[in-house]
Amino acid sequence: MTFAVQAAETTPMHVPNPVQRPSFQPRGAVSKAAAAQALRLGGLTPMTTADYPGELAATLFCQGCPWRCAYCHNAHLVDAADEPALDWSEAREFLVRRRGLLDAVVFSGGEPTAQSALPAAIAELRELGYKIGLHTGGPYPRRLAEVLPLVDWVGLDIKALPSDYSLVTGVPGSGENAWDSLALAVESGIALEVRTTPLPGLDSPAYLEHLMQELAAVGVSRYALQQCRPHSLLEAELRERLPTQLAIPDAMPFAHFELRAI
Ligand code: SF4
Repeated sequence: MTFAVQAAETTPMHVPNPVQRPSFQPRGAVSKAAAAQALRLGGLTPMTTADYPGELAATLFCQGCPWRCAYCHNAHLVDAADEPALDWSEAREFLVRRRGLLDAVVFSGGEPTAQSALPAAIAELRELGYKIGLHTGGPYPRRLAEVLPLVDWVGLDIKALPSDYSLVTGVPGSGENAWDSLALAVESGIALEVRTTPLPGLDSPAYLEHLMQELAAVGVSRYALQQCRPHSLLEAELRERLPTQLAIPDAMPFAHFELRAI
């Protein structure tokens, strides 16, 4: 379950500093901190075991997404221009205090790779000792390539076969970017889970079997089918078309498969 962080969780503790000294930070450290500060956040989950397999994590929800999936549960996160719920320094201060209590931080969204501040923000949290997880739909392969060396685990949404992507996202060309991102993630050797939340009309057993075969052919070995629950949908009328239960293909070409509801 996700929620915007409560004020008590994010308000930095006031640390008295009676002796005012000039601070001498290396130039690179200052510019990296300034770059991370631009990260726009729509919320924070302080502690979860659901967002990074096997790790106790906090999740940061990045504001803004270039796509508009009808089944999106995070309508409040898709508009990049919306007022951020907290700023980077609040989130970072919270995570400084949680060192030793949490293993990992997950960047989720919205779409984390939409923001140029992402690499600097990840680098700061790595320096604090956190493992880094990334949830992405892969709309920006070049930004993904930039952050993959800094990330320990990726959950990548592949929504459909490339030619059908715009039916899900509303954006022409989105399929090419997502599948390019998939190729980059597989090639990198990073721990990867691919997930599909099928849109009604692109969810027959035959369609899903074809999609899974294509994913396995690219090298995907860990896969989750996610059944969309009929709440908080970006397009509320989709509720009537959601199946009560996904029909799962018989053939399953993955070493690890999970069916889950989201
Ligand atoms: S489901 Fe994901 S990719 Fe689609 S609009 Fe929502 S945040 Fe963006």
